[in-house]
Amino acid sequence: MADFNNTNIADFHGVWVFCEQRQGKLQPTVLELISEGRKLADDMGVELCGLLIGSEEEVAGMEKELGAYGADKVYVCADEKLGVYTTGGFAKVICDVVMDKKPEIMLIAATNIGRDLGPRCAARLHTGLTADCTHLDVDVEKYAAFLKEASTLPVEQIDALDRADRNLKMTRPAFGGHLMATIICPRFRPQMATVRPGVLKRGEYDEAKAAAVQVEKLNVAVSDADIQTKVLEVVKEAKELVDLTGAEVVVSVGRGISKDIDKGIALAHELADQFGGVVGGSRAAIDSGWLSADHQVGQTGKTVHPKLYVALGISGAIQHKAGMQDSECIVAVNKNDGAPIFDVADYGICGDLFKVVPMMIDAVKAVKAAK
Ligand SMILES: Cc1cc2nc3c(=O)[nH]c(=O)nc-3n(C[C@H](O)[C@H](O)[C@H](O)COP(=O)(O)OP(=O)(O)OC[C@H]3O[C@@H](n4cnc5c(N)ncnc54)[C@H](O)[C@@H]3O)c2cc1C
Repeated sequence: MADFNNTNIADFHGVWVFCEQRQGKLQPTVLELISEGRKLADDMGVELCGLLIGSEEEVAGMEKELGAYGADKVYVCADEKLGVYTTGGFAKVICDVVMDKKPEIMLIAATNIGRDLGPRCAARLHTGLTADCTHLDVDVEKYAAFLKEASTLPVEQIDALDRADRNLKMTRPAFGGHLMATIICPRFRPQMATVRPGVLKRGEYDEAKAAAVQVEKLNVAVSDADIQTKVLEVVKEAKELVDLTGAEVVVSVGRGISKDIDKGIALAHELADQFGGVVGGSRAAIDSGWLSADHQVGQTGKTVHPKLYVALGISGAIQHKAGMQDSECIVAVNKNDGAPIFDVADYGICGDLFKVVPMMIDAVKAVKAAK
């Protein structure tokens, strides 16, 4: 660390993604980051590298998939001591590699592990980290186009941006989602960001790129003294969690089901089942204990962009919309015709969900039967 000077910006090159795996399974959100990292690396004209850490057995054979989604190179750090995640062990390895190879950008998924690991590495490397990003840009033209579409900034201010600026522009919701803040880290490298799972889109799998990926195994120097904690046992949650981010259809319920909670949830399940989808909920539904926390859609829950999102009895607060407004098709059922959810809905049905949803289920069944 003593001779690591991270203010010499010109010494740092390349976009890196920390490729989180658990028990030999790559986390799906890593592929979203690799796809986004590819775009950033292309805009900067640099390499995109993945960083895989774990035991030999865990990390074996993951490189091709990372290559297929855009990684030029995968650095592999394998050691039996890294077979179980520990903040100390993983942070030591990441910091050693970053100090040696000097990437310009480091992206980490904002999973539980990523949220733990990212800040620890940033503090040790004495650089900045923007947590929970929902949008990233390097190219100023692209950033300006994003601002013109998604912000209320005056056009003159956007046009006046320095087109030569190469800093990573890391955008995230702030003040409970009421405004978006773009943060830069101009004086130190690497520029670090954790990114919300499900926000960025995964690219297409490319067989040729999978075959072309380079792999470099790095020597790992990690000792018990670096790890500091001892994991005695890993206990997996027995219940199966709902896969909201991977689902093509999500039917969510909100406080609007309060009149008959069991019936409201049963109707949502029946409608979701018709499409092979899953059930989600607003924070009001989760806080009321009607659904478990893994069902929550929104700023402090999951971000989803399914083909079809159905909102039942959900008002459409900004924090809920932040997690679902990029869905391909949104259908909202609400008895209040002024509910903000209708502002983002492709199809809005004003009515009592307990009457409307059975009609929707019958209609879908009829279409299926006709086929
Ligand atoms: C920092 C912060 C983070 C947050 N994160 C999230 C988040 O991740 N996700 C999230 O969802 N919220 C989040 N919230 C909470 C958010 O602000 C809202 O309070 C919440 O989304 C409201 O949930 P709701 O729409 O179910 O309930 P309500 O706002 O109470 O809306 C209920 C709706 O149901 C309708 N309704 C009632 N009865 C019927 C009926 N029979 N048929 C049809 N419609 C009916 C009503 O007209 C109303 O529009 C967050 C808030 C903060 C401050």
